[in-house]
Amino acid sequence: MSNHALENASQALKNARCAMAFTGAGISVESGIPPFRGPGGVWSKYDPEKFEKGYFKRHPDEVWPLLKEIFFDMLEKAKPNPAHIALAQLESEGKLAGVVTQNIDSLHKEAGSSVVHEYHGSTRRMQCMSCRTFFDSHSIPLDKLPPACPACGGLLKPDFIFFGEGIPTDVHRAATDLAKQSDVCLIVGTGGQVMPAGRIPYIVKNRGGTIIEINLHDTDYSYTTSDYFLQGKAGDMTPRLARLAMA
Ligand code: NAD
Ligand code: ZN
Repeated sequence: MSNHALENASQALKNARCAMAFTGAGISVESGIPPFRGPGGVWSKYDPEKFEKGYFKRHPDEVWPLLKEIFFDMLEKAKPNPAHIALAQLESEGKLAGVVTQNIDSLHKEAGSSVVHEYHGSTRRMQCMSCRTFFDSHSIPLDKLPPACPACGGLLKPDFIFFGEGIPTDVHRAATDLAKQSDVCLIVGTGGQVMPAGRIPYIVKNRGGTIIEINLHDTDYSYTTSDYFLQGKAGDMTPRLARLAMA
């Protein structure tokens, strides 16, 4: 990557009328949360079928220990890294209108970002599949699995999207509206293969906007969509870009 690309990208961000960020698993890798795909990823160890909603309902005793191991134990320890923090700073400096994230780890909010559309939900809440009540995950003990709804004893499901579930209309609309208003989209740490989330940057691009991409490796966006591809670690490149854009 040339310094030229970094400088030009920072100018684009600086001059944006409205900029947004679109993030994926790669932004949280330096917080200790591995991505799903590739060697060592979740899908190389666990069968994705287990995270299909119907299977979960039929076999909660089998799936809940996996949910605890993959999502709750690991996420408990994770802290925001310099990439999450840089996006929060850009927002507080008025240089970023909001973040659409595919992650369910809540690290953007923990870093201080206030406009965060969690497109796939988050681990912060659970919902009872019988009475539909939501609970803060911290209030639900996970020593006995599956955890029971404190109100009715029903089955609790983490409030993130399982396979076979649609994106809730409100978050889809909020994310799409932000993209329609944005003339710059900063993509950090996602290959965009998960649909419909992966289409968000195209909304910006198709309306004539500028796409800046930060990733360790090139992706489907890199050659077709990205105006600036900044190759590197999210935790290194995002703060560098942000510093230049805020200067
Ligand atoms: P993905 O495309 O969202 O993420 C992986 C991408 O991150 C790859 O393009 C990879 O090159 C890049 N990457 C890896 N380390 C990086 C780093 N240090 N800096 C910059 N880029 C880096 O794909 P996925 O992992 O298959 O995720 C699928 C779905 O599961 C998504 O919705 C994702 O958000 C979700 N998921 C969430 C979490 C989380 O909440 N932290 C973790 C894993 C997966
Ligand atoms: Zn209930």
